Amino acid sequence: MSGFKKYYQKPWADRLQVLQTEQLLTADQLASLKAVAVNPKLGETMIENFITSYSLPEGLALNYMIDGKDYVVPMVTEEPSVIAASSNGAKLVKQAGGFKTNLTERLMIGQVVLENVVAPTELATKLKKAEEQLLQVANAAHPSIVKRGGGARFIRVRILAADLISLDLAVDVKQAMGANMLNTMLEAVADYVRTNYQQEILMSILSNYATSCLVTAHCQIPLALLATKQLAGKEVGQKIAQASRLAQLDVYRATTHNKGIMNGIDAVLIASGNDWRAVEAGVHAYAARDGQYRGLSEWQVVGDNLEGKLTLPLPVGFVGGSIGIVPLVKLNHQLLQLESAEELEKICVSVGLAQNLAALRALVTEGIQKGHMHLQLKSLAVSVGAKQAELAPLISALESAGVRDSNSAKRLLAELRRKED
Ligand code: NDP
Repeated sequence: MSGFKKYYQKPWADRLQVLQTEQLLTADQLASLKAVAVNPKLGETMIENFITSYSLPEGLALNYMIDGKDYVVPMVTEEPSVIAASSNGAKLVKQAGGFKTNLTERLMIGQVVLENVVAPTELATKLKKAEEQLLQVANAAHPSIVKRGGGARFIRVRILAADLISLDLAVDVKQAMGANMLNTMLEAVADYVRTNYQQEILMSILSNYATSCLVTAHCQIPLALLATKQLAGKEVGQKIAQASRLAQLDVYRATTHNKGIMNGIDAVLIASGNDWRAVEAGVHAYAARDGQYRGLSEWQVVGDNLEGKLTLPLPVGFVGGSIGIVPLVKLNHQLLQLESAEELEKICVSVGLAQNLAALRALVTEGIQKGHMHLQLKSLAVSVGAKQAELAPLISALESAGVRDSNSAKRLLAELRRKED
């Protein structure tokens, strides 16, 4: 594979050509790779060794009312049913007055980790006493954020082991997610500590465990609104509360419960140009904050209502990273009528609660497959080669036969085509 030598230095066209020379792709395949590349110049500025653009579908989740404001929510996802479930959950909550949110602070935390510490308690005391000086060092490394009204706010010193100390720095990053500005500040603080305390530094990096960037969504739904054809609203509400309890008790269920919450949130994070891996990492750590991994949402029946609550660390950005440079992200901000990172946090946590409500309601009543089935059958039909006109008849043939495996889909498609001939 000698064609890949200094691959990153080659122009885009040459980089593609290597794929053919190395017999990984044919000329036709190269052409299709080129054809789907949206804005190669932008791609090359965003990542290394760019070859093409990988596109995912974007749709709108509807019916969101958050703190009295109506939203349509762009979501980028490959998973069928996420948007339908989201709109469904949001509709129920809107009928009950919408989501209410709280957000008290938006600070990002980073770590300077000191190693080979000899006298941890004394050093921790010295560092704590030097807080003002350390904050000044941090701010001097990124003065523009101070001009914007942000900057370093406090330090915290944690002794992790007899030889390891974490010096945590909390920074108000204003409208950015803040990873890069925080890392710059942390490296400056690390240099200062290295020089002034003759202390070895292991690393300096922000933490994605954003415990000073929490946001909460609440909703209160009259039980009557939850009724299905088979079950009274009260029974559905009680079962949702029981499902919530189950996710507190059992890690197997909690993991899937939280995955469902993140289905919608990740889709909004991608659409809004945010780092969804950063949020995912923090959210799951938060789910295990008392030592056991638990469901993130809480549902309980109080009087004639089902009350839901979800608190998450959501260190999202309104500026920075890829946000200002990807045209579709700008359009998505406009669709959301977004004015700040705080507003995006509130939307995301509400989306998580709506998604969770829809999933739990389906799970404790008709089961998850009924709602998922139609779109999944559509994906299955496409995957076995059905053309646009064949989708509807193939889906209804699959539904009537009660099957959803690819062999059956291929067989039914072949039968349909034979009938057409
Ligand atoms: P940037 O590096 O793009 O920094 C944001 C910039 O936005 C600031 O430097 C600031 O410029 C400018 N800005 C303009 N208006 C404002 C405002 N109102 N408030 C705040 N800043 C403003 O992005 P981030 O530092 O936010 O870093 C995010 C990126 O870092 C993401 O792409 C993420 O993937 C990546 N990352 C994530 C890591 C992790 O999660 N562990 C680690 C490393 C990187 P000015 O200088 O003019 O103030």
